Amino acid sequence: MAGILYLCATPIGNLNDMSPRIIETLRDVDLIAAEDTRNSIKLLNHFNINTPMTSYHEYNKVDKAKTLIGKLKEGINIALITDAGTPAISDPGEVLVRMCMDEGITVTSLPGPCALITALTLSGLPTRRFCFEAFLPADKKERKRILEELKNESRTIIIYEAPHHLKGTLKELFDTLQDRRITLCRELTKKFESVMPTTIAGAMSYYEENDPRGEYVLVIEGKSFKKQDEEKQSGFAEMSIEDHMKIYEDQGIDKKEAMKLVAKDRGVSKRDIYNALL
Ligand code: SAM
Repeated sequence: MAGILYLCATPIGNLNDMSPRIIETLRDVDLIAAEDTRNSIKLLNHFNINTPMTSYHEYNKVDKAKTLIGKLKEGINIALITDAGTPAISDPGEVLVRMCMDEGITVTSLPGPCALITALTLSGLPTRRFCFEAFLPADKKERKRILEELKNESRTIIIYEAPHHLKGTLKELFDTLQDRRITLCRELTKKFESVMPTTIAGAMSYYEENDPRGEYVLVIEGKSFKKQDEEKQSGFAEMSIEDHMKIYEDQGIDKKEAMKLVAKDRGVSKRDIYNALL
């Protein structure tokens, strides 16, 4: 019988967040695959876990996944842990999970700490709909494209950031998304945990005076549909009604339907458009 891959979430700063079920699983499995074995040995020693470890890094994720899958097929049970938090969330794991599924190997997840969920719940921003952007890409073109895409994102946006990039990222967010509410969640679950609800401009001026320190999750307000509609209407308001009609008529839409669409875009009645075109 093939073994099982257990995804085990580990603390993001507070050892007391290690769940009894995860401690038990880490003791019971045959092998622990860890992002950084030197880092994880401290955690395992703390909980008297003596299971053998092997590394599973981002850079060898495909080749090593093949080796791990070979072991799982032999019946070996493996737990995957990362340096902190939930495996596969901005951490190695995603590829291994996909490959295990393709090979019909059972994967199960033992939930626990995750910086994005901890930050979202503390943010004071809408939690019903959100999108997670992880770290913004380092590649300039890709980064610009994602920021542009986020401009009209209506859901709450969550971004991971390292302290030395924080100021630059805040400026980019201000330049692209304009000023809006943001909650900076720092050192979550640790002694110096701080949660700062402010605006992007407020955060920029705060960090003119203070050096960013520790690990950050940025939780940013989405752009409401109301605001998006207002912006769209003010954009159309600068255009003549004739030009606006032309946009739709050029798409082959008949005059009656085009008047309906123009009225909707401009937030006025169809009669107003009809009268203006007389
Ligand atoms: N797998 C992890 C999880 O479940 O959240 C995320 C790992 S990712 C490589 C590391 C990033 O997560 C950090 O740069 C930071 O943005 C965020 N992070 C991790 N621990 C944190 C903490 N205690 N407080 C704030 N942010 C944290």
